[in-house]
Amino acid sequence: MRFTPSSLLLALAVAGCARTPAPPLVGPSSAPVFEPPQRVALVTAPRGDAEWRALGSEAAQLLSQYIRINTTNPPGNEMRAAQWLAAVLRREGVESQVYEPAPGKANLYARVRGDGSARPLILLSHMDVVLASPEYWSIDPFSGAIKDGYVWGRGALDMKGEAITQLMALAVLQRAHVPLKRDIIFLATSDEEIGQGVGAGWVTAQHAELVRDAEFLITEGGTIRADADGHIAYYGVATTEKSPFWLDMVAHGTAGHGSRPTPDNPVHHLVHALDRVASYRTPLVLTSAVERYLRDLARLEADSTRRAWFANPGAALHDSEAVRFFTGDLTYNALLRNTISITGLAGSDKTNVIPPVARAAIDVRLLPGQAPQAFLADLVRVVDDTAITIQPQGPNWPSTESPVETELFRAVVRAARARDANALVTTPPLAGFTDSHFFRTLGIASYGLSPFPLAVADARGVHGNDERVSIAALTFGVHFMYDVVAGVAAR
Ligand SMILES: [Zn+2]
Repeated sequence: MRFTPSSLLLALAVAGCARTPAPPLVGPSSAPVFEPPQRVALVTAPRGDAEWRALGSEAAQLLSQYIRINTTNPPGNEMRAAQWLAAVLRREGVESQVYEPAPGKANLYARVRGDGSARPLILLSHMDVVLASPEYWSIDPFSGAIKDGYVWGRGALDMKGEAITQLMALAVLQRAHVPLKRDIIFLATSDEEIGQGVGAGWVTAQHAELVRDAEFLITEGGTIRADADGHIAYYGVATTEKSPFWLDMVAHGTAGHGSRPTPDNPVHHLVHALDRVASYRTPLVLTSAVERYLRDLARLEADSTRRAWFANPGAALHDSEAVRFFTGDLTYNALLRNTISITGLAGSDKTNVIPPVARAAIDVRLLPGQAPQAFLADLVRVVDDTAITIQPQGPNWPSTESPVETELFRAVVRAARARDANALVTTPPLAGFTDSHFFRTLGIASYGLSPFPLAVADARGVHGNDERVSIAALTFGVHFMYDVVAGVAAR
Protein backbone atom coordinates (compact mmCIF):
# COMPACT_ATOMS: atom_id res chain seq x y z
CA MET A 1 0.00 0.00 0.00
CA ARG A 2 1.27 3.46 -0.82
CA PHE A 3 1.06 5.64 2.23
CA THR A 4 -0.44 8.79 0.87
CA PRO A 5 -2.34 10.58 3.64
CA SER A 6 -5.68 9.24 2.42
CA SER A 7 -4.52 5.64 2.22
CA LEU A 8 -3.12 6.01 5.73
CA LEU A 9 -6.54 7.09 6.94
CA LEU A 10 -8.03 4.17 5.09
CA ALA A 11 -5.51 1.76 6.58
CA LEU A 12 -6.47 2.99 10.03
CA ALA A 13 -10.14 2.53 9.28
CA VAL A 14 -9.52 -0.95 7.90
CA ALA A 15 -7.48 -1.86 10.94
CA GLY A 16 -10.53 -0.99 13.02
CA CYS A 17 -8.88 1.82 14.97
CA ALA A 18 -10.79 4.54 16.75
CA ARG A 19 -13.44 6.15 14.63
CA THR A 20 -11.95 9.05 12.74
CA PRO A 21 -14.21 11.76 11.35
CA ALA A 22 -15.29 10.84 7.82
CA PRO A 23 -12.55 12.13 5.49
CA PRO A 24 -13.49 14.13 2.44
CA LEU A 25 -13.94 12.08 -0.72
CA VAL A 26 -10.64 11.49 -2.39
CA GLY A 27 -9.83 12.31 -5.93
CA PRO A 28 -7.57 11.20 -8.78
CA SER A 29 -4.63 12.73 -6.94
CA SER A 30 -4.23 12.02 -3.26
CA ALA A 31 -5.65 15.46 -2.52
CA PRO A 32 -9.36 15.54 -1.74
CA VAL A 33 -10.81 17.25 -4.79
CA PHE A 34 -14.38 16.02 -4.89
CA GLU A 35 -17.13 17.83 -3.05
CA PRO A 36 -19.50 15.11 -1.88
CA PRO A 37 -22.83 15.51 -3.67
CA GLN A 38 -25.85 16.47 -1.60
CA ARG A 39 -27.43 13.29 -0.25
CA VAL A 40 -31.16 12.87 -0.74
CA ALA A 41 -32.59 12.47 2.75
CA LEU A 42 -35.17 9.72 3.19
CA VAL A 43 -37.47 8.79 6.05
CA THR A 44 -39.09 5.85 4.28
CA ALA A 45 -38.33 4.09 1.03
CA PRO A 46 -38.94 6.50 -1.88
CA ARG A 47 -42.58 6.69 -2.90
CA GLY A 48 -42.79 9.01 -5.87
CA ASP A 49 -41.07 9.99 -9.09
CA ALA A 50 -39.75 13.22 -7.62
CA GLU A 51 -37.74 11.33 -5.02
CA TRP A 52 -36.40 8.89 -7.61
CA ARG A 53 -35.43 11.79 -9.86
CA ALA A 54 -33.53 13.38 -7.00
CA LEU A 55 -31.78 10.07 -6.33
CA GLY A 56 -31.02 9.76 -10.05
CA SER A 57 -29.38 13.15 -10.08
CA GLU A 58 -27.37 12.25 -6.96
CA ALA A 59 -26.31 9.09 -8.81
CA ALA A 60 -25.24 11.21 -11.80
CA GLN A 61 -23.00 13.35 -9.58
CA LEU A 62 -21.44 10.27 -8.03
CA LEU A 63 -20.92 8.61 -11.39
CA SER A 64 -19.28 11.75 -12.73
CA GLN A 65 -16.75 11.64 -9.88
CA TYR A 66 -16.18 7.91 -10.26
CA ILE A 67 -15.44 8.32 -13.99
CA ARG A 68 -12.91 11.06 -13.20
CA ILE A 69 -10.85 8.54 -11.26
CA ASN A 70 -8.99 7.08 -14.22
CA THR A 71 -8.84 3.32 -13.72
CA THR A 72 -7.71 2.36 -17.22
CA ASN A 73 -6.34 -1.16 -16.97
CA PRO A 74 -3.41 -1.60 -17.29
CA PRO A 75 -2.36 -0.40 -14.81
CA GLY A 76 -5.84 0.09 -13.32
CA ASN A 77 -4.85 2.04 -10.21
CA GLU A 78 -8.02 0.71 -8.62
CA MET A 79 -6.76 1.70 -5.14
CA ARG A 80 -7.82 5.28 -5.84
CA ALA A 81 -11.29 4.13 -6.84
CA ALA A 82 -11.54 1.89 -3.78
CA GLN A 83 -10.60 4.80 -1.49
CA TRP A 84 -13.29 6.92 -3.06
CA LEU A 85 -15.92 4.16 -2.81
CA ALA A 86 -14.95 3.54 0.83
CA ALA A 87 -15.47 7.23 1.56
CA VAL A 88 -18.86 7.26 -0.20
CA LEU A 89 -19.97 4.14 1.69
CA ARG A 90 -18.76 5.59 4.99
CA ARG A 91 -21.15 8.52 4.54
CA GLU A 92 -23.93 5.92 4.46
CA GLY A 93 -22.65 4.39 7.69
CA VAL A 94 -21.09 1.42 5.88
CA GLU A 95 -17.48 0.54 6.71
CA SER A 96 -15.44 -1.32 4.12
CA GLN A 97 -12.28 -3.34 4.00
CA VAL A 98 -9.85 -2.60 1.22
CA TYR A 99 -7.36 -5.27 0.21
CA GLU A 100 -4.29 -4.49 -1.86
CA PRO A 101 -3.44 -7.71 -3.72
CA ALA A 102 -0.68 -5.95 -5.71
CA PRO A 103 0.71 -2.40 -5.60
CA GLY A 104 -1.99 0.05 -6.65
CA LYS A 105 -4.57 -2.71 -7.15
CA ALA A 106 -7.49 -3.03 -4.73
CA ASN A 107 -10.54 -5.07 -3.85
CA LEU A 108 -13.16 -3.43 -1.68
CA TYR A 109 -15.50 -5.44 0.50
CA ALA A 110 -18.37 -4.16 2.63
CA ARG A 111 -21.16 -6.09 4.31
CA VAL A 112 -24.44 -4.62 5.53
CA ARG A 113 -26.06 -6.96 8.03
CA GLY A 114 -29.50 -8.47 7.72
CA ASP A 115 -31.15 -10.61 10.37
CA GLY A 116 -29.49 -13.73 8.99
CA SER A 117 -32.73 -15.54 8.12
CA ALA A 118 -31.59 -15.75 4.49
CA ARG A 119 -28.14 -16.05 2.94
CA PRO A 120 -26.32 -12.98 1.58
CA LEU A 121 -26.67 -11.19 -1.73
CA ILE A 122 -23.45 -9.94 -3.37
CA LEU A 123 -23.46 -6.78 -5.49
CA LEU A 124 -20.34 -7.21 -7.59
CA SER A 125 -18.70 -4.60 -9.80
CA HIS A 126 -15.28 -4.14 -11.29
CA MET A 127 -13.54 -0.80 -10.83
CA ASP A 128 -11.23 -0.96 -13.83
CA VAL A 129 -12.09 0.26 -17.32
CA VAL A 130 -10.68 -0.35 -20.79
CA LEU A 131 -8.47 2.08 -22.64
CA ALA A 132 -10.10 5.15 -24.17
CA SER A 133 -8.40 6.94 -27.07
CA PRO A 134 -9.34 10.61 -26.58
CA GLU A 135 -8.80 11.49 -30.25
CA TYR A 136 -11.91 9.47 -31.18
CA TRP A 137 -14.11 10.94 -28.46
CA SER A 138 -16.12 14.12 -28.70
CA ILE A 139 -15.21 14.93 -25.07
CA ASP A 140 -12.41 14.00 -22.66
CA PRO A 141 -13.23 10.38 -21.70
CA PHE A 142 -12.25 11.01 -18.08
CA SER A 143 -14.01 14.35 -17.64
CA GLY A 144 -17.18 12.79 -16.22
CA ALA A 145 -19.02 15.61 -17.99
CA ILE A 146 -22.74 15.92 -17.32
CA LYS A 147 -24.23 17.52 -20.40
CA ASP A 148 -27.16 17.14 -22.78
CA GLY A 149 -28.85 14.86 -20.26
CA TYR A 150 -25.98 12.36 -20.16
CA VAL A 151 -23.07 11.45 -17.93
CA TRP A 152 -20.13 10.98 -20.30
CA GLY A 153 -16.99 8.98 -19.95
CA ARG A 154 -15.19 5.67 -19.95
CA GLY A 155 -16.99 3.35 -17.56
CA ALA A 156 -20.37 5.13 -17.71
CA LEU A 157 -21.86 1.80 -18.80
CA ASP A 158 -19.08 -0.75 -18.19
CA MET A 159 -19.42 -0.75 -15.31
CA LYS A 160 -19.07 2.26 -13.07
CA GLY A 161 -22.65 3.27 -13.88
CA GLU A 162 -23.96 -0.13 -12.83
CA ALA A 163 -21.84 0.02 -9.67
CA ILE A 164 -23.40 3.38 -8.79
CA THR A 165 -26.91 1.91 -9.11
CA GLN A 166 -25.85 -0.91 -6.76
CA LEU A 167 -24.38 1.61 -4.36
CA MET A 168 -27.47 3.83 -4.48
CA ALA A 169 -29.75 0.83 -3.90
CA LEU A 170 -27.73 0.05 -0.78
CA ALA A 171 -27.74 3.72 0.27
CA VAL A 172 -31.53 3.95 -0.06
CA LEU A 173 -31.97 0.83 2.09
CA GLN A 174 -29.65 2.36 4.71
CA ARG A 175 -31.18 5.82 4.70
CA ALA A 176 -34.73 4.49 4.90
CA HIS A 177 -33.76 1.98 7.62
CA VAL A 178 -35.30 -0.88 5.65
CA PRO A 179 -34.93 -4.08 7.71
CA LEU A 180 -33.05 -6.80 5.84
CA LYS A 181 -33.39 -10.55 6.02
CA ARG A 182 -30.06 -11.20 4.32
CA ASP A 183 -26.68 -9.49 4.41
CA ILE A 184 -25.84 -7.40 1.38
CA ILE A 185 -22.21 -7.57 0.33
CA PHE A 186 -20.86 -4.73 -1.79
CA LEU A 187 -17.81 -6.05 -3.60
CA ALA A 188 -15.81 -3.84 -5.98
CA THR A 189 -12.87 -5.58 -7.58
CA SER A 190 -9.84 -4.92 -9.76
CA ASP A 191 -8.74 -6.35 -12.93
CA GLU A 192 -11.80 -7.61 -14.78
CA GLU A 193 -10.87 -6.09 -18.13
CA ILE A 194 -7.36 -7.55 -18.14
CA GLY A 195 -7.33 -10.55 -15.88
CA GLN A 196 -4.04 -10.76 -14.00
CA GLY A 197 -5.50 -12.76 -11.18
CA VAL A 198 -5.80 -10.00 -8.58
CA GLY A 199 -9.52 -9.18 -8.84
CA ALA A 200 -12.58 -11.36 -8.31
CA GLY A 201 -10.46 -14.47 -8.85
CA TRP A 202 -8.15 -13.36 -6.05
CA VAL A 203 -11.08 -12.71 -3.70
CA THR A 204 -12.65 -16.11 -4.34
CA ALA A 205 -9.31 -17.92 -4.07
CA GLN A 206 -7.64 -16.01 -1.20
CA HIS A 207 -10.67 -14.84 0.77
CA ALA A 208 -13.44 -17.24 -0.08
CA GLU A 209 -14.66 -16.84 3.52
CA LEU A 210 -15.88 -13.34 2.62
CA VAL A 211 -18.33 -14.55 0.01
CA ARG A 212 -18.82 -18.27 0.40
CA ASP A 213 -22.04 -18.04 2.42
CA ALA A 214 -23.80 -15.99 -0.28
CA GLU A 215 -26.85 -17.32 -2.09
CA PHE A 216 -27.03 -14.76 -4.90
CA LEU A 217 -24.86 -12.37 -6.87
CA ILE A 218 -25.68 -9.54 -9.24
CA THR A 219 -23.11 -8.16 -11.67
CA GLU A 220 -22.74 -6.96 -15.26
CA GLY A 221 -23.76 -8.90 -18.35
CA GLY A 222 -27.50 -8.24 -18.58
CA THR A 223 -29.32 -6.10 -21.12
CA ILE A 224 -32.53 -4.15 -20.94
CA ARG A 225 -33.13 -3.70 -24.65
CA ALA A 226 -35.02 -0.56 -25.64
CA ASP A 227 -35.85 0.89 -29.03
CA ALA A 228 -34.85 4.41 -30.03
CA ASP A 229 -38.02 5.81 -28.40
CA GLY A 230 -37.16 4.21 -25.09
CA HIS A 231 -39.83 1.50 -25.32
CA ILE A 232 -38.48 -1.63 -23.60
CA ALA A 233 -38.45 -4.77 -25.76
CA TYR A 234 -37.16 -7.12 -23.08
CA TYR A 235 -35.37 -7.41 -19.77
CA GLY A 236 -32.39 -9.68 -20.32
CA VAL A 237 -30.80 -11.40 -17.34
CA ALA A 238 -27.59 -13.30 -18.02
CA THR A 239 -27.61 -16.73 -16.41
CA THR A 240 -24.79 -18.31 -18.39
CA GLU A 241 -21.85 -17.39 -20.57
CA LYS A 242 -19.39 -19.05 -22.89
CA SER A 243 -15.99 -19.96 -21.61
CA PRO A 244 -12.73 -18.77 -23.16
CA PHE A 245 -10.21 -21.32 -24.39
CA TRP A 246 -7.40 -19.17 -25.75
CA LEU A 247 -4.74 -20.93 -27.74
CA ASP A 248 -1.18 -20.32 -28.91
CA MET A 249 -0.26 -21.87 -32.22
CA VAL A 250 3.46 -22.25 -32.82
CA ALA A 251 5.39 -23.37 -35.90
CA HIS A 252 9.07 -24.31 -35.73
CA GLY A 253 11.45 -24.40 -38.67
CA THR A 254 14.89 -23.47 -39.89
CA ALA A 255 16.03 -19.87 -39.64
CA GLY A 256 17.76 -18.33 -42.61
CA HIS A 257 18.17 -15.41 -44.93
CA GLY A 258 15.08 -14.29 -46.77
CA SER A 259 17.00 -14.27 -50.04
CA ARG A 260 17.44 -18.09 -49.87
CA PRO A 261 14.04 -19.68 -49.14
CA THR A 262 13.99 -22.72 -46.82
CA PRO A 263 11.50 -25.55 -47.33
CA ASP A 264 10.47 -25.53 -43.66
CA ASN A 265 9.97 -21.78 -43.21
CA PRO A 266 7.78 -21.73 -40.06
CA VAL A 267 5.86 -18.70 -41.28
CA HIS A 268 4.73 -20.67 -44.33
CA HIS A 269 3.66 -23.58 -42.12
CA LEU A 270 1.79 -21.24 -39.84
CA VAL A 271 0.01 -19.47 -42.68
CA HIS A 272 -1.16 -22.79 -44.17
CA ALA A 273 -2.35 -23.98 -40.78
CA LEU A 274 -4.18 -20.75 -40.08
CA ASP A 275 -5.84 -20.89 -43.46
CA ARG A 276 -7.31 -24.27 -42.52
CA VAL A 277 -8.38 -22.96 -39.13
CA ALA A 278 -9.97 -19.87 -40.67
CA SER A 279 -12.07 -21.90 -43.09
CA TYR A 280 -13.07 -24.51 -40.50
CA ARG A 281 -16.80 -24.29 -39.73
CA THR A 282 -17.45 -25.53 -36.21
CA PRO A 283 -20.65 -27.54 -35.83
CA LEU A 284 -23.88 -25.85 -34.76
CA VAL A 285 -24.99 -26.80 -31.25
CA LEU A 286 -28.25 -25.74 -29.65
CA THR A 287 -27.83 -25.52 -25.88
CA SER A 288 -30.90 -25.42 -23.67
CA ALA A 289 -30.17 -21.83 -22.57
CA VAL A 290 -29.91 -20.61 -26.15
CA GLU A 291 -33.03 -22.51 -27.16
CA ARG A 292 -34.99 -20.88 -24.33
CA TYR A 293 -33.68 -17.43 -25.27
CA LEU A 294 -34.53 -17.81 -28.96
CA ARG A 295 -38.00 -19.09 -28.13
CA ASP A 296 -38.55 -16.03 -25.92
CA LEU A 297 -37.53 -13.76 -28.78
CA ALA A 298 -40.17 -15.28 -31.08
CA ARG A 299 -42.64 -12.99 -29.34
CA LEU A 300 -40.79 -9.91 -30.63
CA GLU A 301 -40.35 -11.05 -34.24
CA ALA A 302 -42.72 -9.38 -36.70
CA ASP A 303 -41.85 -11.55 -39.71
CA SER A 304 -43.88 -14.78 -39.62
CA THR A 305 -41.21 -17.00 -41.21
CA ARG A 306 -38.59 -15.85 -38.77
CA ARG A 307 -41.02 -16.06 -35.89
CA ALA A 308 -41.42 -19.75 -36.68
CA TRP A 309 -37.64 -20.19 -36.70
CA PHE A 310 -37.30 -18.52 -33.30
CA ALA A 311 -40.23 -20.49 -31.91
CA ASN A 312 -38.61 -23.79 -32.86
CA PRO A 313 -34.86 -23.29 -33.18
CA GLY A 314 -34.18 -27.04 -33.12
CA ALA A 315 -36.14 -27.48 -36.35
CA ALA A 316 -34.81 -24.23 -37.82
CA LEU A 317 -31.24 -25.50 -37.66
CA HIS A 318 -32.22 -28.15 -40.24
CA ASP A 319 -33.46 -25.45 -42.63
CA SER A 320 -30.65 -23.95 -44.71
CA GLU A 321 -32.37 -20.58 -45.05
CA ALA A 322 -32.84 -20.34 -41.27
CA VAL A 323 -29.24 -21.42 -40.70
CA ARG A 324 -28.09 -18.66 -43.05
CA PHE A 325 -30.14 -16.16 -41.08
CA PHE A 326 -28.91 -17.23 -37.63
CA THR A 327 -25.26 -17.69 -38.58
CA GLY A 328 -25.31 -14.41 -40.52
CA ASP A 329 -26.00 -12.58 -37.26
CA LEU A 330 -22.80 -12.18 -35.22
CA THR A 331 -24.53 -12.69 -31.89
CA TYR A 332 -26.70 -15.68 -32.79
CA ASN A 333 -23.78 -17.26 -34.61
CA ALA A 334 -21.64 -16.94 -31.46
CA LEU A 335 -24.40 -18.49 -29.34
CA LEU A 336 -24.87 -21.47 -31.63
CA ARG A 337 -21.33 -22.82 -31.92
CA ASN A 338 -17.84 -22.83 -30.50
CA THR A 339 -16.13 -19.92 -32.22
CA ILE A 340 -12.61 -19.30 -33.43
CA SER A 341 -11.04 -15.91 -34.05
CA ILE A 342 -7.40 -15.70 -35.10
CA THR A 343 -6.27 -12.51 -33.43
CA GLY A 344 -2.48 -12.35 -33.25
CA LEU A 345 0.49 -13.12 -35.51
CA ALA A 346 4.22 -12.96 -34.95
CA GLY A 347 7.09 -13.94 -37.23
CA SER A 348 10.30 -12.08 -37.89
CA ASP A 349 10.96 -8.43 -37.03
CA LYS A 350 13.15 -8.14 -40.10
CA THR A 351 11.82 -8.53 -43.61
CA ASN A 352 15.01 -10.30 -44.79
CA VAL A 353 15.20 -12.84 -41.93
CA ILE A 354 13.37 -16.17 -41.86
CA PRO A 355 12.64 -16.72 -38.15
CA PRO A 356 13.06 -20.08 -36.39
CA VAL A 357 9.59 -19.74 -34.86
CA ALA A 358 6.28 -18.21 -35.90
CA ARG A 359 3.28 -17.80 -33.61
CA ALA A 360 -0.40 -17.05 -33.73
CA ALA A 361 -2.93 -16.31 -31.01
CA ILE A 362 -6.38 -17.82 -31.38
CA ASP A 363 -9.40 -16.76 -29.36
CA VAL A 364 -11.67 -19.78 -28.95
CA ARG A 365 -14.97 -19.58 -27.05
CA LEU A 366 -16.71 -22.74 -25.98
CA LEU A 367 -20.38 -23.36 -25.34
CA PRO A 368 -21.53 -24.94 -22.09
CA GLY A 369 -20.96 -28.68 -22.09
CA GLN A 370 -18.09 -28.56 -24.60
CA ALA A 371 -14.91 -30.32 -23.54
CA PRO A 372 -11.79 -28.19 -24.18
CA GLN A 373 -9.57 -31.21 -24.86
CA ALA A 374 -12.00 -32.58 -27.44
CA PHE A 375 -12.08 -29.21 -29.17
CA LEU A 376 -8.30 -29.07 -29.17
CA ALA A 377 -8.12 -32.55 -30.70
CA ASP A 378 -10.52 -31.40 -33.46
CA LEU A 379 -8.32 -28.43 -34.21
CA VAL A 380 -5.16 -30.54 -34.35
CA ARG A 381 -6.97 -32.73 -36.89
CA VAL A 382 -8.02 -29.70 -38.92
CA VAL A 383 -4.46 -28.33 -38.99
CA ASP A 384 -2.94 -31.73 -39.77
CA ASP A 385 0.69 -30.58 -39.64
CA THR A 386 3.29 -32.01 -37.26
CA ALA A 387 5.38 -28.83 -37.51
CA ILE A 388 2.59 -27.04 -35.64
CA THR A 389 1.90 -27.21 -31.92
CA ILE A 390 -1.25 -25.84 -30.32
CA GLN A 391 -1.23 -25.04 -26.61
CA PRO A 392 -3.82 -23.49 -24.31
CA GLN A 393 -2.64 -20.06 -23.13
CA GLY A 394 -3.87 -20.42 -19.61
CA PRO A 395 -6.44 -21.99 -17.37
CA ASN A 396 -9.86 -22.74 -18.73
CA TRP A 397 -13.02 -23.28 -16.75
CA PRO A 398 -16.19 -25.11 -17.61
CA SER A 399 -19.07 -22.89 -18.62
CA THR A 400 -21.66 -22.78 -15.82
CA GLU A 401 -25.29 -21.75 -15.58
CA SER A 402 -27.45 -20.31 -12.79
CA PRO A 403 -31.09 -21.37 -12.45
CA VAL A 404 -34.12 -19.20 -13.15
CA GLU A 405 -36.32 -20.79 -10.47
CA THR A 406 -34.89 -18.62 -7.71
CA GLU A 407 -36.08 -15.85 -5.45
CA LEU A 408 -33.72 -13.39 -7.09
CA PHE A 409 -34.88 -14.16 -10.61
CA ARG A 410 -38.49 -13.84 -9.42
CA ALA A 411 -37.61 -10.42 -7.92
CA VAL A 412 -36.34 -9.31 -11.34
CA VAL A 413 -39.55 -10.53 -12.99
CA ARG A 414 -41.62 -8.69 -10.37
CA ALA A 415 -39.66 -5.46 -10.88
CA ALA A 416 -40.09 -5.73 -14.66
CA ARG A 417 -43.83 -6.52 -14.45
CA ALA A 418 -44.34 -3.60 -12.04
CA ARG A 419 -43.25 -1.38 -14.94
CA ASP A 420 -45.11 -3.27 -17.65
CA ALA A 421 -47.53 -6.09 -16.90
CA ASN A 422 -46.54 -7.77 -20.19
CA ALA A 423 -42.80 -7.31 -19.78
CA LEU A 424 -40.69 -10.03 -21.35
CA VAL A 425 -37.95 -11.21 -19.01
CA THR A 426 -35.52 -13.45 -20.85
CA THR A 427 -32.06 -14.91 -20.37
CA PRO A 428 -29.65 -13.99 -23.18
CA PRO A 429 -26.52 -16.10 -22.77
CA LEU A 430 -23.28 -14.17 -23.11
CA ALA A 431 -20.81 -14.87 -25.88
CA GLY A 432 -18.18 -13.11 -23.77
CA PHE A 433 -17.53 -13.68 -20.09
CA THR A 434 -17.67 -11.77 -16.84
CA ASP A 435 -16.36 -12.47 -13.35
CA SER A 436 -19.56 -14.47 -12.62
CA HIS A 437 -17.85 -17.80 -13.24
CA PHE A 438 -15.68 -17.40 -10.13
CA PHE A 439 -18.84 -17.26 -8.03
CA ARG A 440 -20.95 -19.78 -9.95
CA THR A 441 -18.14 -22.24 -9.31
CA LEU A 442 -18.66 -21.63 -5.57
CA GLY A 443 -22.35 -22.49 -5.97
CA ILE A 444 -23.56 -18.88 -5.80
CA ALA A 445 -26.44 -18.23 -8.22
CA SER A 446 -25.05 -15.33 -10.26
CA TYR A 447 -26.92 -13.06 -12.61
CA GLY A 448 -25.90 -10.44 -15.14
CA LEU A 449 -28.29 -7.58 -14.51
CA SER A 450 -27.70 -4.24 -16.15
CA PRO A 451 -30.40 -1.83 -15.00
CA PHE A 452 -30.22 0.63 -17.89
CA PRO A 453 -32.69 0.53 -20.77
CA LEU A 454 -30.39 0.88 -23.77
CA ALA A 455 -31.00 1.07 -27.49
CA VAL A 456 -28.50 -0.79 -29.66
CA ALA A 457 -26.81 2.52 -30.56
CA ASP A 458 -26.33 3.48 -26.87
CA ALA A 459 -24.73 0.15 -26.06
CA ARG A 460 -21.98 0.77 -28.63
CA GLY A 461 -20.20 2.95 -26.06
CA VAL A 462 -19.20 -0.18 -24.15
CA HIS A 463 -15.49 -0.55 -24.96
CA GLY A 464 -16.16 1.97 -27.78
CA ASN A 465 -16.08 5.74 -28.13
CA ASP A 466 -18.30 8.33 -26.46
CA GLU A 467 -19.47 5.92 -23.77
CA ARG A 468 -22.26 7.64 -21.86
CA VAL A 469 -25.43 6.96 -19.93
CA SER A 470 -28.47 9.21 -19.90
CA ILE A 471 -29.62 10.59 -16.59
CA ALA A 472 -33.06 9.15 -17.42
CA ALA A 473 -31.53 5.66 -17.78
CA LEU A 474 -29.52 6.18 -14.61
CA THR A 475 -32.64 7.21 -12.70
CA PHE A 476 -34.51 4.19 -14.06
CA GLY A 477 -31.51 2.06 -13.15
CA VAL A 478 -31.30 3.23 -9.54
CA HIS A 479 -35.02 2.57 -9.05
CA PHE A 480 -34.92 -0.80 -10.84
CA MET A 481 -31.83 -1.98 -8.97
CA TYR A 482 -33.42 -0.89 -5.69
CA ASP A 483 -36.59 -2.83 -6.48
CA VAL A 484 -34.63 -5.99 -7.26
CA VAL A 485 -32.29 -5.72 -4.26
CA ALA A 486 -35.09 -4.79 -1.85
CA GLY A 487 -37.28 -7.45 -3.45
CA VAL A 488 -34.85 -10.18 -2.53
CA ALA A 489 -33.26 -8.77 0.64
CA ALA A 490 -35.87 -6.70 2.51
CA ARG A 491 -37.66 -8.46 5.32
ZN1 LIG B 1 -17.34 -4.86 -17.55
